[in-house]
Amino acid sequence: MAERHDVLVVGAGPAGLSATLFLRLSGRDLDVLALDRLQGERRSRYHRICGGGVSRRAFRGLDPIEPWGAMEEISRALLRWPGGVETEQTIDGHIIDRPRFLDELAVRCREEGAMLERGSVVSVVPDGDGYRARLYDGSELRARHIIGADGALSVVRRDLFGTRPWRIMAAERYLVEGDAEPGTLVFHMEQRYRGGYRWEFPCGGLVNTGFPRGTDSVEEYLDRGCRHIPFGGVGPVVEGDALLVGDAAAQANPVSYGGIRAALQAGRQAASAVAAGKPDLYRRWWERSRLSSPWYLKAHEAMSSWSDEDMRAAAAPFQGRSRALPLLRRLIEAPRDYHMYVAYGMALRDSW
Ligand SMILES: Cc1cc2nc3c(=O)[nH]c(=O)nc-3n(C[C@H](O)[C@H](O)[C@H](O)COP(=O)(O)OP(=O)(O)OC[C@H]3O[C@@H](n4cnc5c(N)ncnc54)[C@H](O)[C@@H]3O)c2cc1C
Repeated sequence: MAERHDVLVVGAGPAGLSATLFLRLSGRDLDVLALDRLQGERRSRYHRICGGGVSRRAFRGLDPIEPWGAMEEISRALLRWPGGVETEQTIDGHIIDRPRFLDELAVRCREEGAMLERGSVVSVVPDGDGYRARLYDGSELRARHIIGADGALSVVRRDLFGTRPWRIMAAERYLVEGDAEPGTLVFHMEQRYRGGYRWEFPCGGLVNTGFPRGTDSVEEYLDRGCRHIPFGGVGPVVEGDALLVGDAAAQANPVSYGGIRAALQAGRQAASAVAAGKPDLYRRWWERSRLSSPWYLKAHEAMSSWSDEDMRAAAAPFQGRSRALPLLRRLIEAPRDYHMYVAYGMALRDSW
């Protein structure tokens, strides 16, 4: 007979570990098992493929989670547009060493009584009043609730929801030698990045850079990796007692591609909905959350079709100190830019 748990969390990245911790902190004494297919260096390697940029705001309401493993404090975003236009924005956050952050989070989960084990889920089916998961080694597990936190190519989503992310982008990440702008996230915005960008983030004395796969290249690097970023949602995030969180639910932001904040917050919300015995509360939270605002998708669609000249003209009013008049002039000339400005403002504030 397969062992049975109250909750099976598939995937122990930011979303899965957040869900696991808050399930244990719910006061319901739930038996929670979190499985991840990767361990040790392979797990660190997977999770290093990231910019590691997370705002201070992202940790609000997530106590006791903190930005463990913070390597740099960030106070500025610098956007470089075609035609030499540069715009900058004051922001507030960190670059975290993501494997270290997750290791700390895993320690807290275990301290609170969760079980974290290695295991690769290959299929999931409904089973009586719960679910049955089959693992790569042939064993089976049963659970009353299942939380799919298994990333972009989620098995839980495939088997229980039958849906796909609205969009999915492969992103290449490189670690290179060089001098990053201290305390600054640099973004290169050009047509060739197809609605994305090339980033340069400080990373412990090195530079973390990357871009959508196939749009650019790096000749010399110390490390390289590629991973998918799903965004724009997947439709319902709750189906019976199954819930999808983080990249499994394509919750990364369509403008900034930041997904750590949404993953941590969704994990928390899913946990409290399950603990309350009302999984649908999580669906309602997600549908009403600013993190899932349709403005972002509209902005992504527009930006994907813009030429370098469109981008230069849209960004130019934000150069320099006196912005009000140039911006007004631009909005009269090109009112379609309005939703872009709103989405970018929201993204810098809320999406990472
Ligand atoms: C190159 C790149 C740069 C990025 N930079 C940033 C950034 O600077 N800031 C930001 O906020 N976001 C960034 N993101 C997005 C962010 O990394 C993700 O949105 C976030 O990691 C989502 O967390 P998650 O827990 O949902 O999924 P993941 O981090 O993908 O974790 C999923 C976990 O599930 C496990 N798993 C998968 N399948 C199975 C299975 N079948 N059985 C068991 N376990 C399984 C995996 O091993 C993994 O540990 C970046 C993404 C990429 C690709």
